[in-house]
Amino acid sequence: MSIELEKYKGQSTRFTCPKCGRKHSFTRYIDTETNIYIDEKVGICNRAIKCGYHYTPKQFFESSGVHRFSQISTNNLAYKIHNNISKEKISDNLCQSVDKRKELIPIKQIDKKYLLQTISKPSNFLTFLLNNFPKDDVERVMLDYFIGGAKDNRVVFWQIDSMLRIRTGKIMQYNALTGRRVKSGVSWVHSELKKQNILSNDWQLTQCLFGEHLLIKYPEKSVMLVESEKTAIIMSLYQPNFNWMATGGLNNLTENKIYPIRKQQITAFPDLKCFELWQSKAEEINHRIGSKIELSHILEELATKEDKEMGLDLADYYLVVND
Ligand SMILES: [Zn+2]
Repeated sequence: MSIELEKYKGQSTRFTCPKCGRKHSFTRYIDTETNIYIDEKVGICNRAIKCGYHYTPKQFFESSGVHRFSQISTNNLAYKIHNNISKEKISDNLCQSVDKRKELIPIKQIDKKYLLQTISKPSNFLTFLLNNFPKDDVERVMLDYFIGGAKDNRVVFWQIDSMLRIRTGKIMQYNALTGRRVKSGVSWVHSELKKQNILSNDWQLTQCLFGEHLLIKYPEKSVMLVESEKTAIIMSLYQPNFNWMATGGLNNLTENKIYPIRKQQITAFPDLKCFELWQSKAEEINHRIGSKIELSHILEELATKEDKEMGLDLADYYLVVND
């Protein structure tokens, strides 16, 4: 753990001073490993002469009686969970017998060892989950979705199909405090492996739904379909009785992705702004492959005008309601 004054990364990293009340002039101390602030009052005002407020982490820990250890426990916890999850357990989940469906185009897959390498690594996304949900629940979703970590505390969302073939992993960055996406830093495991010459350049990706493999683990659960991987995971924490799957993007609701789950009961939750697009896609797919995708109207009904403009999703609602 290393605590330092937060580096300047635009106005959002400078706060209102708790003493003089000046906006955007207060720098907080932050744990740079987890991106968690020590406390909103712990920092320094940049008006050294006129205000002079400086509340150090040491003073904070002493006066609040908070032992330094409990401040860092979420960080330790992340490592502990990683270590507790045995690699054999994951291998077992990946080796269950699968039906041998015939495919016209052979589907390329990624070796299991690359998934296992990411399992013991921390990520900002995981830190966010640990800050907001009970440890046991987080451990469950980590195992269910094989949530991995990559360089710079990015998260890896693995796409594994219902024949337990690893298609690829989507590497993304999140803010550990807010759980919001950081737009830069998106990458794919198959692209990284191509760069390292581990996969040949003509290796072709066929994506599947994020969470498709849950069909084998929990065949009795009905499918809830959302856009983002994050929403699927967060909803699985709130509503574990369903198989939450994600298309991985607005335009990824496709016939090929739905085909493997076409016999399931599917309820789709499009993000606000996207209801009509998904509705027409779902009708088309249902017609072509006989699936039974139903769209949920719940977000449309709950949403205010501002919500719609922001394009909120289901997880946004749950996180706010449960704050
Ligand atoms: Zn001040």
